[in-house]
Formats: sequence, structure tokens, C-alpha cells
Amino acid sequence: MIKVFFPDGTKKEFDNGTTSLDVAGDISKRLASKAIGAEVNGNLFDLNRTLPEESEIKIITLNDELAEGFYRHTFSHILAQAVIRIYGKENVKLGIGPVIKNGFYYDFDLGDVRISDEDLGKIEKEMAKIISEDYPIERIEAGKEKAGEILKDQKYKLELLEGIEDDDVTFYKQGDFIDLCRGPHMPSTGKVKYFKLTSVSGAYWRGDENNPMLQRIYGTAFAKKNELEEYLNMMEEAKKRDHRKLGPKMGLFSFNHEYAPGMAFFHPKGTIALNELMEFSRKMHKEDGYEEINTPLIMNEELWKISGHWDHYSENMYFSEMENQNFAVKPMNCPGHIIIYKSSSVSYRDLPIKMFEFGKVHRYERSGALHGLFRVRGFTQDDAHIFCTMEGVEEQIKGVIKLVDKIYKTFDFEYRAELSTRPEDYMGDPLLWDKATEILKTTLEDVGLNYKINEGDGAFYGPKIDYHIKDSLGREWQCATIQLDFMMPEKFHLKYIDNENQEVQPVMIHRTIFGSTERFFGILTENFAGAFPSWFSPVHAILLPIADRHVEFALDIQKKLSDEGLRVDVDERQKSTNFKVRDAQVNKIPYILVIGDKEIEKNNLSIRTRNNKQINDVEIDYFSKKVKEEIDKKMINSIFE
Ligand SMILES: [Zn+2]
Ligand SMILES: [Zn+2]
Repeated sequence: MIKVFFPDGTKKEFDNGTTSLDVAGDISKRLASKAIGAEVNGNLFDLNRTLPEESEIKIITLNDELAEGFYRHTFSHILAQAVIRIYGKENVKLGIGPVIKNGFYYDFDLGDVRISDEDLGKIEKEMAKIISEDYPIERIEAGKEKAGEILKDQKYKLELLEGIEDDDVTFYKQGDFIDLCRGPHMPSTGKVKYFKLTSVSGAYWRGDENNPMLQRIYGTAFAKKNELEEYLNMMEEAKKRDHRKLGPKMGLFSFNHEYAPGMAFFHPKGTIALNELMEFSRKMHKEDGYEEINTPLIMNEELWKISGHWDHYSENMYFSEMENQNFAVKPMNCPGHIIIYKSSSVSYRDLPIKMFEFGKVHRYERSGALHGLFRVRGFTQDDAHIFCTMEGVEEQIKGVIKLVDKIYKTFDFEYRAELSTRPEDYMGDPLLWDKATEILKTTLEDVGLNYKINEGDGAFYGPKIDYHIKDSLGREWQCATIQLDFMMPEKFHLKYIDNENQEVQPVMIHRTIFGSTERFFGILTENFAGAFPSWFSPVHAILLPIADRHVEFALDIQKKLSDEGLRVDVDERQKSTNFKVRDAQVNKIPYILVIGDKEIEKNNLSIRTRNNKQINDVEIDYFSKKVKEEIDKKMINSIFE
């Protein structure tokens, strides 16, 4: 007999050989028809898999969040089957085909054959055929020897098989397609519907540049048609907003892949915007009791040996050698801040010490991983370190949580938090780790900030709180982190003198809020589609004289508005007004001011906003006052709308 326990606490006995489908059918016909799989004792089970003797069971339907793993994985197999049908079994070597966020992919080695975006439609058609042929999906258990036989023509799969320690492996079979796979899968290929192949790109086998380059086909899939459509629309919109295109087009920044791969060049306009963001951050930090500092970019290698970076981070560091001394380019700012801390004797009355730096760091990233401003090799952190007493930790972390909230609210970002715990490659005493993790938990609960736990994703020196902000397209970006650290104070023998004149070790909190300022800038670019709030727009207003005789008046107004602190350009080019308006719109300038006879005669302005709202007869002083108010209040939208 099989004892089945249900989520509502009830239990029932079934015959041996019972499957989740049987259990669902026992509850109702309707549930049986909707069921696609089950969660059994915490594991995902195919619908037709027999249940163990004691089964805590939750039936999964397409509406369930866990359903994604079932149908997306099944799509990846259908994709592989379609590719084999099209390109021929003997020509296709399969890599891996996992589920990812919003979809799935499969890696293929097709020898000399290149798949292009144009081929995706053909593959989709074949996939649709496989779906309509509705093959049952069968789970097959096999020993390693048998498995080796099944996979004898699949060299990559054989390599994977070698890496499996267990003698029992599983295969999934649908029609004439079979794949080494842990599952779970849908009961048949006919059970999936809404998908689209989105792109194809190169991917090294096992992510290693020394291995062959495979071709990776990405797809997306959802349970409902409208979910798929919404996602595809979002992707389309994201493509239009891609900061790698918008940035150069708007004259904000560029990259030079030949001379400085992974490092951004900020042009005058981009620098104005970036500086505004940094100035804002500076002000917020100053108001919150931080003191700004500035530390060297290149320091002796020994420093990084003490800090632990040498053992845990050297693969990502840049090095240099001069006068027989070995130097490292800083990947993090902490050791520099520690040197300042150690340069004088610290009393408990001095604590907390809050050091803030726009610290430029360099971290090596594989060429293949670089991605515009999102993944770079050199960037500027809005980095700070708080040195405090053990008793003061909670209060300090609460302070950081508040500051993060203030800064993100300015951009209208919603956010959520994750608590990342001890990674495999950690430094220090596990008991201290537990204590630090506990402190972060209590603080998060105390301030009522919702969080989820991210096991094993902490920094090597301590657990951390990560923030994920949500942009206007609903995409999430990890930005701020708050890390609690007992290790570095110990490694560097940091001390302060307590009220009984004893030497005590302080605690260190590492934290950034933008994270990488450049990356944050990239996120803002896509979030606002380049139409930045006025306060960090490179140009606030542009004057467009219609004819030569209007230029002088335009220059007068430019002077007047500039004196008031506004950033104002005049487009004096001999081009049509329509052309100039379009150009200003491409550059997402908040206010377009066309100057003609009428404006000169009335000595006022005609305003066109970025959203094409037209307002005439606006007095110059009034315009300047309102725009200044918009900037001072850091308003997201135009004050004239
Ligand atoms: Zn699979
Ligand atoms: Zn740090």
C-alpha cells in the first residue's frame, strides 16, 4: 500500500503502482484532466511516475508556478527533436537543454552547418508538428552501461554521463527521440502550446573557451497565450530601448572593443548625466553621515593576500609590476578603506565610521560575458564601508536599508530583497557566519522588508542582502548589496578602544546602492527609454530658430536660461524646423522651443514637451522657474504635463 498525504493534512491509502495521475483522478475527473505532474516529497514527479510508499503530494496544473519547469523542459526536448528531424540524426550532436527564466534553450553541434535567425521559423514549424503528433513522454531508468550504449553517438552526452556518480540514470523518450535527462516532463508532447524561438547564438561547451563552440537556440514559453504575447511585446520594447544602441545614438557613451574591451567611454552628454547621478548620491550620503574619501587604484599585491582576494578572487584581478614590486589593480575598495581606518587610533566614541567612495574598480570578465554597460571590466561603485561596534550593527544596517529606499524611490523603482548565505568557497568561522546571517535576518524582519533566502550565494567574507529593482518593463536588476563582515577586521587586525580602555575588534559593513554606477546608468537608460527625468538629462531644453533672423533672439534666451542654471542648446543648423524637431526628439530632450517671428514679437516661448504636448505663450521667466522646480524636486515627469 501507498500512503498519500495531501497539502490540507488529510491522508489516503492507494494500491502499489499508483501514479500522481491516479491520485488526481481519485480527487476529481477535472483535476485529472488538468494535472501535468506533481510535487512528491519535495521533488517534481512526472504525472505517470509511480509514487513511493509514503508520498506527500501536491498535484501540479498549468496554473501552478512549478508548471514552468515541466512545460519549458518539454519544449527544449521538442526543439532538439525538431532539429534532429531537419538536419539529420547523424549530423546533430546534442549539448544541454535546460529551462531558464522565461524559457529554455538547447545547445547543438551541427558541424559546419550554421543556423541563422531565418531558420528558426522552419524549426518552429517542425516543433508544432511534433506537438500535434502528441507523443507520450516516457521516463526510462537505466544503468550506466546501458546508458552508454544509448548515447554511443552523442559525444557530449557521453561526457555528461561520465560526470554522473550514481549508477542509475534516467532517459526521456518521445517518439523516436530519446535524451539523457533528469526530468520532469509533461505527460505528452501534445500538452504544450504557447512558445516561440527567440534567437540563436554561439555558446562554448560547458562555458569553456577551450571547448568547441556550439549553437544555442533560445526559446520562450508560457502556460497562457496572453502571457506569451505580453512577454514578446516586452522583449520587443526592450530591444528598442537597448542601451547599447540608445547610448551611442544619443551621444552618451561608446565602447572601443579594439583598445578597451569592456570599458565604457563616457562622452560629454553622458558625463553630465552620470555626474548628476553621482552628485545626487554624494548629497544623500553626506546627509546620512558618510564622509567621502578617495583611495589608490593600484596597490601592492601583499594587501590582497591579507584581504583574502588573492585566494578567492585573483582570477578576476589585473596585475602590474614596477621596481620589482608586484601590484594589483583594485577589484574592490575595502582594503583601501581599511588602510585609512588603520592610519589613526580609533575610540568607541568615533564609531560608527562611515567611509564613502566613488571607487573605480577593475574586474576581469570573459570576453564572451561582456554586455554593454551591464557587464563591464571597469566600473565605479558608490561604495561605502561602515565600521561599528557589534552592538551597533543592527542600527547601521537599518540606516542603510532606509538610505537605499530613499535613493530608489527617487527613480520610482520598486524593489525586493534577498538574503544570500554562506557560499562553498567561504572564509572564516562557520559560527560567525551563522551569527552574521541571523543578525541580517532579524534586521530585515524588524524593518518589515520582505525577502527570500538565496542559499550559498553570499560573498566569500560574509552573508549579504541583495536588492532587486524592477524597471518599467517589469524586468528585475540586482543592484544594492549590504554585506556583514567579521573576517576582514580580523585579517587586518582592526581595533578600537572601548570605554574600559580595552582593544576590541570592530565589525565592518560593505554596501553599495547603485552597485556599479555605469551599470545603473544603463538600467536607467532602458528604464526611461533614454527620456531621463530633467534633473539628469544632459540637455534640459533646445532652442530651434526657424530662420537666420531668429538666431539672435534664441541666443539671448539661451544666455538667460543658462544663467538660471539650465542646460540649454541652440540648433543653429541650416535645416528645416521639422528636421531639427525630429533630431531633438531622437535625443529625448525634455523641452523643444521653436523660435519664430511670433515668439520674438511676444517675447515669449512655445514649448513642445517630449510627449508632444504643445503649450504656447509661455513667459520666459515662468518657464525657467517651472523647469527649475521640476529639477529641484527630481520629478520623473514633465511639470508641464
Ligand atoms: Zn531534458
Ligand atoms: Zn567592501
